[in-house]
Amino acid sequence: MTSYVSAFARGSRDMAGLLGGKGAGLAEMTRLGLPVPPGMTVTTEACRVYLDSGTEPPEMAGELEEGLLALEKETGRTLGSNQDPLLVSVRSGSRFSMPGMMDTVLDIGLNNVSVLGLAAASGKERFAWDSYRRLLQMYGRTVMGVDGQHFEDALAHLKHDRSLKQDQQLDVADLQEIVGRYQAIILRESGEEFPQDPRAQLRCAVRAVFSSWNAERARLYRRREHISDALGTAVNIQAMVFGNLGADSGTGVAFTRDPATGSAGAYGEYLSDAQGEDVVAGIRDAVPLAELERLSPACYRQLLGHLQTLEGHYRDLCDVEFTIERGRLWLLQTRVGKRTAEASFRIAYALVDEKVISDRTALERVDGEELTRLMFPQFAADPARAPLARGLAASPGAAVGRAVFDSAAAVRSAGRGEACVLIRRETTPDDLPGMVAAEAVVTSRGGKTSHAAVVARGMGKVCVCGAENLTVDAAGRRATTGAGTVVAEGDLLSVDGTTGAVHLGALPLESSPVGSFLENGRSTGALTDAVARSLRHADSARRLKVYANADTPHDAALARRLGAEGIGLCRTEHMFLGTRRPLVEAMILAADEAARAKALDALLPLQRQDFVGILEAMDGLPVTIRLLDPPLHEFLPDRTALSLRLAATPSPAAHDVELLAAVERMHETNPMLGLRGVRLALTVPGLITMQVRAVAEAVAERLRAGGRPRAEIMVPLVGAVEELRLVRDRVEQVLAEVAAETGTRIDCPIGTMIELPRAALTADRIAEAADFFSFGTNDLTQTTWGCSRDDAEAAFFPLYFKNHIFETSPFTSLDTEGVGLLITMALEKGLASRPGLTTGVCGEHGGDARSIHFFHRAGLDYVSCSPYRVPAARLEAGRATLRPAEHSDSR
Ligand code: PEP
Ligand code: MG
Repeated sequence: MTSYVSAFARGSRDMAGLLGGKGAGLAEMTRLGLPVPPGMTVTTEACRVYLDSGTEPPEMAGELEEGLLALEKETGRTLGSNQDPLLVSVRSGSRFSMPGMMDTVLDIGLNNVSVLGLAAASGKERFAWDSYRRLLQMYGRTVMGVDGQHFEDALAHLKHDRSLKQDQQLDVADLQEIVGRYQAIILRESGEEFPQDPRAQLRCAVRAVFSSWNAERARLYRRREHISDALGTAVNIQAMVFGNLGADSGTGVAFTRDPATGSAGAYGEYLSDAQGEDVVAGIRDAVPLAELERLSPACYRQLLGHLQTLEGHYRDLCDVEFTIERGRLWLLQTRVGKRTAEASFRIAYALVDEKVISDRTALERVDGEELTRLMFPQFAADPARAPLARGLAASPGAAVGRAVFDSAAAVRSAGRGEACVLIRRETTPDDLPGMVAAEAVVTSRGGKTSHAAVVARGMGKVCVCGAENLTVDAAGRRATTGAGTVVAEGDLLSVDGTTGAVHLGALPLESSPVGSFLENGRSTGALTDAVARSLRHADSARRLKVYANADTPHDAALARRLGAEGIGLCRTEHMFLGTRRPLVEAMILAADEAARAKALDALLPLQRQDFVGILEAMDGLPVTIRLLDPPLHEFLPDRTALSLRLAATPSPAAHDVELLAAVERMHETNPMLGLRGVRLALTVPGLITMQVRAVAEAVAERLRAGGRPRAEIMVPLVGAVEELRLVRDRVEQVLAEVAAETGTRIDCPIGTMIELPRAALTADRIAEAADFFSFGTNDLTQTTWGCSRDDAEAAFFPLYFKNHIFETSPFTSLDTEGVGLLITMALEKGLASRPGLTTGVCGEHGGDARSIHFFHRAGLDYVSCSPYRVPAARLEAGRATLRPAEHSDSR
């Protein structure tokens, strides 16, 4: 029998799928005997039924009533009673944490009668009416769909009438007046009375939380975090405890370690005489957790004990939300805490050292994306430079962008391709689109556990919060510092999330400690030690080799320092640009074979030197050199620009006229599908001969110099084995010629890229003529989907995301279902026809974590990616071996 409602005492941490993360945490803490206010969880299953059918499962109402009766019995209180009433909170909680993205309603159970009961039982009439006011506001907005501004305006009016500045100055009569006005607003705006029946309140609040799963901001967050829309949210119904009952009450957030740096020791914030939401919303400034030791030593000691219990139990960093109600400590939530990339590495290996987790678990807990983030450059230190403002270093990194003051402006700025910094007093979940669009987020209020900080850390976005000397005027689109400096929209800012400083202008950048360490191998502390350990483990575990895409000696050397074991793709087209462009032009314009040979002869020594440098930088390791791929017109001037120039010149130079004729001749409607790759090799054979000769002569030169050059030649865009055979014959002939001329032995495998569906479909035939396959997943994705990346990403991908045609761009993360199928098929066919065939991937996907896990499972020999992605690829290739095959699906 399905049970849609589960008492906390019946669940456990293993049930997060059904109870959501929060529900599972509450259940686990209850099982551990920690002080958790009693309650129950409505399951994600119930939510899924509701979202699919538009109504709750029929059994749910009965189960909810049963749970409520048990809760009333356990607490000795009754919902809606006129004497010491039970009040409950109704909170969302999905499988994966989605901070602030969905709805919460507190103080359910208050009505015109029970408010008097609460006043009598608490002895605080003002508190009771203030709670009722909060309920009406929250319920009116989230459950009855009333625009929150109406409530804000009513409150502002009343304060104005009474000449009051702060909410705290409102007395009982004022709050009673507000309660009346709020009820009138609800009736006027929704056409319905605020329900006085507390059970009806509860039912509707649960329904509203279910529906908030599909709120726009929640959908956006899930897309970004790769969380499946199908999961649904659980709803936790819990007896309320109050942190706003006076100086002996309060609320806070605590972490078992510092989530920003990973340093040991409890960390957190506390707000005395306040409700839980005040801390997370960052509306009032909290004090450091250590202050609690002074304010309430007993509760502080208990809390530290509970934190230790939780970290020992979960064997990871945990965070808790807690409330102290009149000197009594309650835990309202726990979960494995979000952390920065630095903290992730440091905590994982600190826990290994403390013998809490194994090396294997540590490697599971860090990832390539975090490692890449740690490699980002940081601002060069300059003690003499005074920041414009300073706040809390809430999420590390260095970001430069133009100031914007609301979410919509941030989105517009990103749309123009202009980096921006979102400055807010504090953020709310409605700011999410702007936070996604901005390079950094700066707030003037709120602590390290405020909404801005939590969300930014989760996204790996730079964040400085609580920069108090900034007065933010969102409507006026500006912020002013204490000293009177004004930051206007569009001003350039540098935000340092590692130190908490905000500077005017763009500051110079330098390598981060991890970036330097990865290049020079010198560890400088706990963080680089942890990175080194993770990479050592990954390198020893991985089966996939990691190569780099590099086409200059500089990049080759850099890639090697970063751990590349070869070059999987040396694109030769960049070598035809710059000062060499006129030579290419001369070759294209050549009137006869002799003129063409002359131009190619001029290119040969230059090209040879390119290869000598690269082979030297990668001495002893394979260097896969791709024959020229792009259409030749890419080396000529732009057609429109040239014809306009000529049209404006009365007597144009003969060379320009010739050039325009060539450009016209070579113009293609679909160059991506045009005269490029192997087709070019067949059409302009002299070009390829020159390139192969340059490779072979470079190998000979390196051999003479005592090196161990390992060049390989790769033919792009092959669709039929016959194409490859023709080119291969020519390549072998040139290699043999150079070997004979130089008296050297030139071993140079000849392989092909698989980047057309036809190549994948006929891979058995193609393997007959190929020593290796390298999957060009950029083109293979373009040709499989039949769309050009450059056009598609802007033209229709946003619509595709919105409609869930795909969740991530197939150009970023491999489309395993379609393109992946072609790859596995080609591998099978290729290996069947040529056992021992070397296989790899050199498209962008070679550096993407999820794709790497797929390539590992598919059985490729290597991935190749740009130099700076090599460390992350090594880590992910190692992590791929830890995971059972079914584990790397999307969330
Ligand atoms: C590819 O198509 O995946 C590839 C690596 O080639 P390019 O990106 O240079 O077209
Ligand atoms: Mg390609």
